[in-house]
Parts: sequence; C-alpha cells; structure tokens
Amino acid sequence: MTVRRPGFAPGRHPVSDEAINPMDGAAMGMALELLGVSKTFDGFQALAKADFAVETGEVHALLGENGAGKSTLMNVAAGLYRPDQGRIRVRGREVELSGPVAARHLGIGMVYQHYKLVKAFNAVENILLAQGAPRYGTGLAEVEAAIRAQSEAVGFAVDLRRPVGSLSVAEQQRVEILKVLVAGAGILILDEPTAVLTDREAEALLTTMQALARQGAAVILVTHKLGEVQRHADRVTVMRGGRIVASADPASLTAAELTTLVVGATANPVHCPATRIEGPVLAVEDLAGTRSDGLQTLHGLNLTIRAGEIYGIAGVGGNGQTELAEILMGVRRAGAGRIALAGDDVTGTGPKLRRARGLAAIPADRQVYGLAGDLSVAENYAVGGLTSGRFGGWLRVDRAAIRAGTEAAIAAFDIRGARSPRQKASLLSGGNAQKLVIAREFAGRPRFVLAHSPARGLDVRATADIHRRLREARDAGAGVLLISEDLDEVMLMSDRIGVMSRGRIVGEFDAPADRQAIGVAMVHHA
Ligand code: ADP
Ligand code: MG
Repeated sequence: MTVRRPGFAPGRHPVSDEAINPMDGAAMGMALELLGVSKTFDGFQALAKADFAVETGEVHALLGENGAGKSTLMNVAAGLYRPDQGRIRVRGREVELSGPVAARHLGIGMVYQHYKLVKAFNAVENILLAQGAPRYGTGLAEVEAAIRAQSEAVGFAVDLRRPVGSLSVAEQQRVEILKVLVAGAGILILDEPTAVLTDREAEALLTTMQALARQGAAVILVTHKLGEVQRHADRVTVMRGGRIVASADPASLTAAELTTLVVGATANPVHCPATRIEGPVLAVEDLAGTRSDGLQTLHGLNLTIRAGEIYGIAGVGGNGQTELAEILMGVRRAGAGRIALAGDDVTGTGPKLRRARGLAAIPADRQVYGLAGDLSVAENYAVGGLTSGRFGGWLRVDRAAIRAGTEAAIAAFDIRGARSPRQKASLLSGGNAQKLVIAREFAGRPRFVLAHSPARGLDVRATADIHRRLREARDAGAGVLLISEDLDEVMLMSDRIGVMSRGRIVGEFDAPADRQAIGVAMVHHA
C-alpha cells in the first residue's frame, strides 16, 4: 500500500515545498508540536497550557472524556481556532497558522466529527470543492483518476460517482479521509472517527491508519475508547479538564491505569436494587410492529413495567428493540396489540399525548429524536415545558421563565459547555448533549422513562452520571425501561431483565441475575 500524490495541484494558493511532498520527513522525528497552548471561550478555559507532540510514523491517540478539550486542541492544530497562548511547530519549524488553508498547506489534514460534505455532490465533486479550483486545463477525468488511485492505494472501497448523501456513514468518512489525503496531508487528524462505525468498520479503518503511519504519516486518533488505544496506538496522550495529564506508550499501562488517568481516581460501579416497587405503569400486550422497510420485527410482545423498578431489555441488536422503542415513544405505529400508560390506553396516540400522560424518552439517536442542533440550549430545553404549560403556551411564550429554567437545569445537571442558554445545542459534546435531553425529560417528573442505549458513545464519567439519573427517577417512583445491547449495562442497572429475541420477550430474570443464563437465552432463541 502506498500513499500517492495525485496529479493535480491542490488549489489556487501558492504551493510550498512542504505541500508538494509532505511525506519527506518520514521517520525524521517530530511532525507536529503544540507547546503551552491555552484557549478560553467566554471566560471558560477549554485548554490550559497543553503540550502535545506527534512523531512521523506513529499512530498517536489523544484520549480523554467528553469535554476534556481534545477537539479544541486539534482545532488549534488544524488552524480553525487561534490559541490565546502557545506555539506550534510543524516538522521542527515554528509556524503561524492563520487559518485552515495555512494548516492544509503545511500538510495538516483534519477529519471532523461532523462531516463537512455537500450531500448532493459526489465524492469527486466534494474533493474538488475542498481543493479550490483545479489548475486550468485539469480535467474532471484526471482529478477522478487521481482520487481513484489514492483510494486504491489505501484500500478504500467508495463509489466516487454517487451523491455522498446516499453513501453509508463509513463511506462518507472515507470520502473525508480521501479529501485530506488528496490534499497532501502527511499529518492526519481523525476526531473520534469510530464513534459512528460498527466494530468491524472501526477495526478496518484503524488498521489502514496504522499502515499509513508505517509509510511515514503522522496519524492522530482522537478517542475516548481505551480498547482502540491499546490495539492501535503507538503512543497515547491523555487529556483531562483542558490539561495534558500523561503521555506514554500504551503498552506500558494497564486498562485500569489508563482509566484512572482519564477520569481521575474512580470507584467501580455497583448494582443498587430498587427499594419500593408498586403497580404497573406500562403494560404492553401482544404488540406487533414492522420496520421501515416493511419487515415485521415485533411478534406479539408482552411486557409489564412497574413503578419503582428498572426493567432492562437484553438482546442482540436487530431483534426489534428499535421498533419497540419507537412504538413506545409514539413515533411509529403499532401493527397490532395494546399499550397502556399509567392505566390509559395510548395505543393510537402520538408522542405529545403520551408525554402529557407522563412518558419521558431518552432516544438512542439523540441527534434525530433528541435535540435540534441548530436551536439553542434553552429552546431545546423549553420544548418539554411548552407542552406542559410550564413556560406559557405556544402562543405566549414566557421567555424569562425559559431562561431561568434552563440556567437552573444547566447547574443541576452539570451540563458543561453550555455557558449560556443561547448557545447552540450542536456545540455540546456527546455527554453534555445527553445530559440536556435528560434534564428536559426529567423536568416534569415522569411516571415512565424509556431509555434506549442512553450511554452509547459516552465516556466512563458521563455514563455513571446518566445511570445515577435513571436510578433517581426510579427511586422517585417512575418505572424505567432500559433497552441496551450492552449486557454489562443491563446487568448493572436492572431490577428485572427481559431477554428479547425475534420480536418477543423470551425469558425474564430477577436481579441478581445469572449472566450465563441470560447469555444462553439470548443466543438460544436467536
Ligand atoms: P472533547 O473534544 O474532548 O470532548 P471539546 O474540545 O469539544 O472536548 O470541548 C472542551 C470544552 O470547551 C467543552 O466544555 C466545550 O463545551 C467547550 N467548547 C468547545 N468548543 C466551543 C466553542 N466553540 N464555544 C464555546 N465552548 C466550546
Ligand atoms: Mg470532541
């Protein structure tokens, strides 16, 4: 596998020597150094004198929990943010990064967490767009050939002709990576690249990145997953609270030592059983349901959840969990059967009425059902209260009450990164976005809480936080349904466990449950 330069110049800007041959420094020492970098947002210190150094030829993991400052530090390296303080060296030479274009010309390429692709354009058009205008006389065919060569060189399977909006997330990511490789990046920054990938896709991507490093690239892998660091990184730098707390060879540290570096001193989570279980709050009878593609995935599912308990659904993904969650939220119709919420039949009703009956939902996909990223934190928080009348009605909105309510929620739920209720919700990190959803959902004292993979993508501390909130809701008398593919999470949290397989509950277990027995039920019926 080789990394080839494409046969066209990367744009209308003067091309420096470095840009033409960014790999020439291979195995020659430092690729990128950030020295004493500080950055403050509205008085909040996101980076405090951070030092970070990456050598050519290595995959360097930047590890830290949500909000540690990883993306901010990398945005400084990519020329997107100007640091308040600190110096940057590229291949040993001190540089001034006036912007992303300057960084790109020094061979620094960043793949962001949220892709910056034009969905209606195909891969070739997107890459061209990012490059700026090609040199006069460079044909589209020539550009496409160069991209194809690059894509074959790194072993990426991507359809270059289809609109990128129709490509899978993994393919879109490959287009983003090709974009920076074609631009000549020898210093590659990937911000949480595996968050959106399946395990297999993630392994394949990280193996490719290791191969790129072997050829002399410097690859920075931003992550909060310990396993990735241990399997794929040559070096790890750990950040916590805007500071660098360690830089080491990952092989020299145990998983426990790494965890302690990431979160500080920590205790192992323990199971806390329910204290007072009362009558049913949710009763589901003979529920049938179909997936968006028409396939029936729920086949006569029966389920009862009582006030004061956490009922966990364990099961291999794709056994109807998503359809069950969507039907319970009221965003998908039941094919047959009955749903009773706090004694009322809600089978044919929509989300609004169910919320009024005491439903709170923490959906698996917080970007789709959970939050509106373009709206402010306060607006996202207020939707819940508008339906209940707490913030006035749709016709006469009580803005002062919304601001005060949001500020109180930010403090109570420790939503870091939301320093003003007016900040856009999309600026929150994953854990803090999830806290905002929970703050809103729990504001009305729910009777039934549906939590679908609530900890997915979150780090250790944010996960513990979400779990504590779910237990508090239970202890305040709500019935909680936890649907998760993470058996450890289900075991840790649940008072009762139902195993779901092929659209039914095929076994129920009281806590403390035997993990082995649950595992057998999961695979036996699959
Ligand atoms: P990480 O990538 O490690 O999860 P970030 O670098 O995204 O963390 O964020 C670090 C802190 O800085 C967070 O509290 C975040 O909310 C805040 N932050 C990041 N970018 C901005 C911004 N553009 N405006 C205001 N605050 C920000
Ligand atoms: Mg980040």
